[in-house]
Amino acid sequence: MTPTAAAPLEPAVPLIELQDIRKSYGPSHETDEIDADGLAPALVLRGISLRLYAGEFVAIVGASGSGKSTLMNILGCLDRPSSGRYLFEGQDVSAFDADALAWLRREAFGFVFQGYHLVATESARENVEIPALYAGMPEAERRLRATALLERLAMGARLNHRPNQLSGGQQQRVAIARALMNGGRIILADEPTGALDSQSGAEVMKLLHELANAGHTVILITHDRDVAAQARRVIEIRDGQIVADSGDGLAPAAPAGGVIAPLSGPGLGGARNAHASLATDLHEAARAAWRVMWSNRFRTGLTLLGIVIGVASVIAMLAVGGGSQREVLAQFEIFGVRTMFVVAREGSVRSPTAPLTMGDAETIASLPNVEAIAPYIEERVVVRRGNVDHSSEGGGTTVGFAEVLGWTTSEGRMFDEADEASAAKVAVIGQTVRRVLFADGSDPVGQDILVDKVPFQVVAVLGAKGTTNGEDQDDRVVVPLSAAAARLFGHRNPTWIGVKVRDMEKAQATAEAIETRLAEQRRVRDLRVWNRVEAIRVQSATARAMTMMLGLIAAISLVVGGIGVMNVMLMTVRERTREVGIRMATGARQTDILRQFMTEAVLVTSVGGTVGVIVGLAIVAVLMLAGVPVVFSLLASLGAFGCAVLTGLIFGFMPARNAARLDPVVALASQ
Ligand code: ADP
Ligand code: MG
Repeated sequence: MTPTAAAPLEPAVPLIELQDIRKSYGPSHETDEIDADGLAPALVLRGISLRLYAGEFVAIVGASGSGKSTLMNILGCLDRPSSGRYLFEGQDVSAFDADALAWLRREAFGFVFQGYHLVATESARENVEIPALYAGMPEAERRLRATALLERLAMGARLNHRPNQLSGGQQQRVAIARALMNGGRIILADEPTGALDSQSGAEVMKLLHELANAGHTVILITHDRDVAAQARRVIEIRDGQIVADSGDGLAPAAPAGGVIAPLSGPGLGGARNAHASLATDLHEAARAAWRVMWSNRFRTGLTLLGIVIGVASVIAMLAVGGGSQREVLAQFEIFGVRTMFVVAREGSVRSPTAPLTMGDAETIASLPNVEAIAPYIEERVVVRRGNVDHSSEGGGTTVGFAEVLGWTTSEGRMFDEADEASAAKVAVIGQTVRRVLFADGSDPVGQDILVDKVPFQVVAVLGAKGTTNGEDQDDRVVVPLSAAAARLFGHRNPTWIGVKVRDMEKAQATAEAIETRLAEQRRVRDLRVWNRVEAIRVQSATARAMTMMLGLIAAISLVVGGIGVMNVMLMTVRERTREVGIRMATGARQTDILRQFMTEAVLVTSVGGTVGVIVGLAIVAVLMLAGVPVVFSLLASLGAFGCAVLTGLIFGFMPARNAARLDPVVALASQ
């Protein structure tokens, strides 16, 4: 597939046609018109018209400052003319958007610059691979081709050398290999020998000859007439105008087939948006990003510190906050956080205190925000099975007991409404009673025990609650209130009434309502509501506020870390402006550049996040060992890590976008 195979009889469409191209620098270039007597000082190209055919070997020669590089930048679609038309294979390039121009640079052009323009952090082979990266060539193929190209250019022994480990001549060979990577139909060489000693220069010229012979279109820019004379066609430019052209429209020589045969590669037919898979792209970007990060590891490390501190403190502070919150709740959770107790006020003014009644219980149950109640008669009893006696806390209560006190059964089933209605002699025993009476290990459910000498059948065993305030909560036997009244205690007056409220926030109002209503009913204020719900609410709200505040402090440090990342990214972009230019000249799209820098930012913050998580976990572990109550939350850790990565995305975006929006010519020209 040589580009010169066009049928000779057809009027050939020029590969490149320039029509009256003008270029001026400065803000007023739109209005810059050439006037009759010549030189508008800012006008660098003053009406260049030119036709270049496929397969030509053209030298553009002129003194320094005559506008050669400006012309080449326009020819190579690195820059746009101020006016005039540029037709590429008959298509007006001015209609191309940034991506289409990138595609043209990627697929059609190969640049060779005086200053080589290699990416300093990448090896010779990796530099050669760059254009193929943006063309979406698979990695294995890319490597093979880059290696083959370098071997043909006698660079096979230096594949892994960095540019600073290569001589000028060698660097220029790498640049030529890079220009050929995607096919290099048109080689644009701007003073390729300018920085080389004469021998290296001669070698580079020999290579360009070979490429021309192999069918590549070669456009050589030089100020040296001797060098220019080696081309088949010489165009002379002076003060931005063509003053001589040795052969416009000459039929190009047939390709002779030189040492460097044109390699098959993605030609211009390639899809404009050919991309490697996203995974490959990201992998490449991450690899390059890692290298950059590593070469600046001290600076990156300092930036990371912000993220590390942020993430670690989020994890540690939330763990401590959560720990104190749990501490608060743990004291109350045993009997449910929404449960309060109504008790007769001890040592009331009027004595003896009128006992609580079931009427009081009904009144309470009818109040708003009361979800369930459990009146409870509590008196000491002696339980007996066989010849074992045990003094325990006896209780008579209603079926609301389980819900109000959050008490589940570990075996059997709690007594129900029917048992309550029939005053059934059924009993539910606590774990301690079970241990004492059923030391033989037999199943208590279904067996009979004596409670104060009255036989009761055990129907269930309560789940363990442990000890609170020095009282063993599991040392109890509970029977239906009706049965307790009729067979054990001889009265129906609850010792206390458990009240479960619906809405914790209104617990205080409910407690006050209970006190008021019962005082009205009893004509004396001799009852007390032990409103632990309110206490719980206040304490857990305090703990929550503390957690939030700690979290906020941590979040702020994360943001500060993010700003550090942005700072470093802005510096990176500034330092690597030329690299961005090189990448754009080799065909990178704006999205490729954006992705590269975003990947760097995210990589930095991911590493910071990972280290932060590790440090955070270590802090939590140390606190745990020191006996500080902590609650480790996986979610918080993942969240903190996610925030760090997100920070990279957010704070890396602006610098990355700045890089992506750089003008290729301006970027290439930077230092
Ligand atoms: P050559 O490559 O032939 O030496 P150039 O094309 O680099 O010449 O430059 C031609 C003229 O354009 C010079 O006078 C130079 O000062 C001017 N020029 C080049 N680039 C810029 C720019 N970015 N801004 C302003 N003037 C420029
Ligand atoms: Mg120049």
